[in-house]
This record gives sequence, C-alpha cells and structure tokens, in this order.
Amino acid sequence: EQAEAASKAMEPAITLDGVHFPVQANIGSFEDAEKVIAAGAEGVGLMRTEFLFQSRAELPDEQSQYEEYKRIAAAFGDHPITIRTLDVGGDKPLESYPMEAEENPFLGHRGVRMCLADKKLFSTQIRALIRAAAEQPNIQMMIPMISTVSELKYCKKLVEEAREELGLSHSNAPMNVGIMIEVPSAVLDADNLAAEADFFSIGTNDLTQYVMAADRGNPKVSELVDYTQPAVLRAIRMTCEAGKRAGIPVSMCGEMAGDTQVTELLLKAGISKLSASASLLPALKEQIRQTSLN
Ligand code: PEP
Ligand code: MG
Repeated sequence: EQAEAASKAMEPAITLDGVHFPVQANIGSFEDAEKVIAAGAEGVGLMRTEFLFQSRAELPDEQSQYEEYKRIAAAFGDHPITIRTLDVGGDKPLESYPMEAEENPFLGHRGVRMCLADKKLFSTQIRALIRAAAEQPNIQMMIPMISTVSELKYCKKLVEEAREELGLSHSNAPMNVGIMIEVPSAVLDADNLAAEADFFSIGTNDLTQYVMAADRGNPKVSELVDYTQPAVLRAIRMTCEAGKRAGIPVSMCGEMAGDTQVTELLLKAGISKLSASASLLPALKEQIRQTSLN
C-alpha cells in the first residue's frame, strides 16, 4: 500500500474531466530540491532566494549565485523552476546588508522596492539568473511585491540591460519574467500588469495581510488573516480573470495553494498551477484527481 501511495505521488494530477494541473513545490534551498522531486513535484513554483543571502557576513557574488541557480535548476530536468528575486526587508532582515529600522516595515522598503533602490544588488542577481537560464532554459524569474506597472517595466529594463552586457540575447538566453500578485494595487491594476508579465503567481500570505489590513504574524488579528474571506477570494478571482484576458498563466504559491479544502474553488476560479510545501503535494494531487471542473 505504501508503495502504491508513493508511486501515485509521482503521477501527474488529472481532474475527473481530464485536465492536468501541475503541482509544484516551494523550496528554500538546494537540499529541498531532492526532497521535493521525490515527493512528485512537477517543478518549482517558488524558490525563495533569501537562503543564499541569510546567515552570512557578505552578500553572495554573481558567480556563486549563478552556480547555485544552475545546480538547482539542473536537478529538475525539463520542469520549470521559478526563482524569486530577493524578498527581504519587513520581517526578514539580513546580517550582510544593513537596513534602516522602519515604523511600518510591511508597508516599507521590502522586496522589489529595496532591490530597485540598489541597482548593484539587484543587477548582480539578475545577471546570475540570466547566465544560469542560458544553460538551464527551465529557469524563470519571479519578482515579489510588485505594486505598479512602472516597477515591473523598470525590472524588465534591467533584465534587458544585463542580457546585453553579458553578450546574450533572447534566443540564446530566454527567460520568462513573471510577478507575484500579493499587493492590492497589483490586483486592481492586473490588466495593465498582465500586458507586461509572462505569468502571475498569487502570494496569498501577503495578499491576505494587505487586503485585510491585518498583520500576518499578529495572533490578535488572526481571524482577519484568513484567505477564505470574501474580499480575498474576490481578489483572487479578479487576478485570474485578468490573466485569462491577457492569455498568461496564473499560479498560486502562498499557503492557500496547499489547502485541499479550497482546491476545487481555486481550479474553478482559473488557477492553472499550484505550488506548496513538499509534504502537502501527494494529498493535493489526490484532491485534484477527485475534482471535476464542470
Ligand atoms: C506570499 O506572500 O504568499 C508568499 C508566497 O511569499 P512569502 O510568504 O515569502 O512572503
Ligand atoms: Mg510574500
């Protein structure tokens, strides 16, 4: 029986009406890669790169980032691996990078906001990603905390500049550039963002916190930090609809993606891929197999 469960975990998840929904993993290090492949992940929907930057005295240089991205992507063969650019600040400080204390860190200089203010830091990571993608075309780049179209356009400009500096082109170093949808302004302007992004991935941890104006780490407001709140579900549906209008895929990588109680709702809303912790993947696949879209 155990062997049967294990072999089912490696099979794709197909709904009762025959639609394949890729189930991917969230990872935070190379060590995770082997574990999630064994758990049946069809690629990575979110690789948090913070681990490369944390617990060290100096920032990782371009070469070491390039080697790490390439090594992890190679472990996944042809399956896509979605590498998120640095998402620190707010609740996630770095020893190697002093940050000023802020009164409202979750509304402050975090994620892409911090990266855009330090072109050297950001371009080092972008160059490493492009070089790795030139050898591992399964790599795609994902930007966290995008709030405006102009932020995304500027990120894409940095990607173009880095590609040129490296003497590479779209044909020998293709790389999808997608964004996380985790800020209410991104939901409200999703049509315009969709025109610039190759994909969306909904980060329900932050999206819930920001839609509900309730700190995701504060137990006093935990009733509000609930992704089944109607306003959060509405935001998810709006994002899916904008993705559909623009013809780009919308995936989900926040905690909600791994909750089998809401799988049917998400598939029906138009989410095309789910990404969750490795331990949740076999049950998630089983849930998809019991779901019908009609
Ligand atoms: C999210 O906000 O849902 C997410 C996946 O990102 P993180 O939890 O790393 O902020
Ligand atoms: Mg987030």
